[in-house]
Amino acid sequence: MTRHPHCAELVELALRQAPAPDAPEEPAGHRAALHAHLVHCTPCRVELAALRRVVAALCTGEPLDPELTPVPPGVWRRIADEVDREE
Ligand SMILES: [Zn+2]
Repeated sequence: MTRHPHCAELVELALRQAPAPDAPEEPAGHRAALHAHLVHCTPCRVELAALRRVVAALCTGEPLDPELTPVPPGVWRRIADEVDREE
């Protein structure tokens, strides 16, 4: 994969790290290409790391920034539903 993955692809990758048992499986070849790109592309790795922090914060309800208010219950589920609708 020479092009940068689409933002949505990075979001999906980040979501896959979260405990979401109903997440659809991604074709192995595509995942391998995505990982191969990430190994060599610092900007994409940085973006993925940021997305994973957001996903982790949403899953735990912990604020990313201590000065921010915690994510209310149900937000994660609504975002997941929104992602499902776009597919
Ligand atoms: Zn990239």
